[in-house]
Amino acid sequence: MTTHAAAPLTEILLHQGERDLPFNAVSPPIFQTSIFCFPSYDDFRDALSDEERHYLYTRGNNPTVNLCEQKLAALEGAEAAKLVSSGVAASSLAILGSLKSGEHAVVVGDCYSWVRYFFDTYLARFNIDHTYVEGTDPTEFEAAVRPNTRLFYLESPTTFTFKLQDLRAVAAIAQKRGIRTIIDNTWATPFFQNPIAHGIDIVVHSASKYLGGNSDVIGGVIAASKPVMKELFEHQFLPLGPVPDPFAAWLIMRNLRTLHLRMPRHFENALTLATMLEAHPQVEEVLYPFLPSFSQYELAQRQMRGGSGLFSFRLKTDRLEEVKGFVNSLTLFKRAVSWGGYESLVFPAAVKFNDDAVPADRLALIRVHAGIEDVGLLADDVNNALGALGGVRG
Ligand SMILES: *Cc1c(COP(=O)(O)O)cnc(C)c1O
Repeated sequence: MTTHAAAPLTEILLHQGERDLPFNAVSPPIFQTSIFCFPSYDDFRDALSDEERHYLYTRGNNPTVNLCEQKLAALEGAEAAKLVSSGVAASSLAILGSLKSGEHAVVVGDCYSWVRYFFDTYLARFNIDHTYVEGTDPTEFEAAVRPNTRLFYLESPTTFTFKLQDLRAVAAIAQKRGIRTIIDNTWATPFFQNPIAHGIDIVVHSASKYLGGNSDVIGGVIAASKPVMKELFEHQFLPLGPVPDPFAAWLIMRNLRTLHLRMPRHFENALTLATMLEAHPQVEEVLYPFLPSFSQYELAQRQMRGGSGLFSFRLKTDRLEEVKGFVNSLTLFKRAVSWGGYESLVFPAAVKFNDDAVPADRLALIRVHAGIEDVGLLADDVNNALGALGGVRG
């Protein structure tokens, strides 16, 4: 992994910002303090006049949080980053800082469901309009542009259907017109994809997934240039207050230390399971960007260095009972939302609906998170559950 950011990955993850820890501590301290005090009136005034660059109040800056942010910025190859209380806070803040009343955004339609909600209901109240596009063809963005378009909101790949956008092409369309670009980079993580290097302006993450990596913390990240981050800090973050707790920042930092060990394992396990499922007679199709059969396989290889553990597949059935049978037969895979921890999970798309109201295209779609367990055990678990499905069929 040398194509990363400026510094080698392990330097960022294990050492950056940690040369002068108090008392030669090896683990960074948790500064669990709400306020910081000043030796004099003048120091106090200086801090108040530029909160972005001073420790004043933990709703703004905190040393534990800032150390985590320094590493996150370096990982994304960004000038600066801000840790916030959740992934949705990261995207909402970045969007709010990019649009005002009367403006318009072009948005990838399969983006995270709460981002869609934000555009559909929340921003609509403030007269901010949007157009959804599938996003797999860059010309869709061009065609959707209006005179008042100020933002392209991307998520590549999306996390149920795994649709990619060509980041370089979409960024070029935006730059020509002075339109800002935001991408949700949660799936790939900065380990596998650095959108800023492709010309994207702002990267957001849910740190609750791989950056946290242990299903024990909720957080979000915004990374961008210094001027953009300064504006977001002063005009969105300070007034709205989605503050990350210093302990959450410390947990994320601790878990980041193993990012370079976890991600290749998620990739390997996902690819093994996806390949196995694709060859199984009970499986209709598998959606994983790094399967050679995937419709955007070449684009995936061009703009990402690898894939994470999340993919989806369709069972060959139109009966919900069979989907339930498969999901209930799994013993290692846990049935849960979210992903990005060490553990393998399944999320059947149908579970979001009442049993009698499942849309046909969601009924047999199952999302899988390949954790970092022994892949042989995971494969056995899936094969046994598929075998039970065959039994139901008779
Ligand atoms: C989980 C997720 C989010 C939201 O993050 P939270 O930390 O749960 O608020 C946003 N985008 C994607 C792609 C996600 O998977």
